[in-house]
Amino acid sequence: MSIFRKIVSGEIPCNKVLENDDFLAFHDINPKAPIHILIIPKKEYTCFQEVDPKIMVGLTEFTHKVAKLLGLDESGYRLITNNGSDGGQEVMHLHFHLLGGAKLSWNHL
Ligand code: 5GP
Repeated sequence: MSIFRKIVSGEIPCNKVLENDDFLAFHDINPKAPIHILIIPKKEYTCFQEVDPKIMVGLTEFTHKVAKLLGLDESGYRLITNNGSDGGQEVMHLHFHLLGGAKLSWNHL
């Protein structure tokens, strides 16, 4: 079971930002920007390559709400998913990193 599944079930605590029946947004434990949120579907898809494309509609709407809630819709933000080994994915439960709160550089990929 992935660590994010344990977060969804409440077995492991998280600093929650927003939740609905299908998605959860919470602060990354090791932030790489002043604001670093993880957005996940509650249903466990291993990675972006494995996701049912239909859920991306709901995930997009949910992400818009999270960005608005944090005031990032005006200032801007970066949305990333690491897919698989070369993508640098460590937690094998699909998640999007929402990063913001500063002018982000694009150097160290
Ligand atoms: P990945 O490298 O898989 O794209 O990113 C995984 C992210 O999950 C990392 O940024 C890491 O800091 C975060 N993370 C790992 N374990 C936990 C945890 O238990 N709680 C929270 N909030 N974030 C975690």
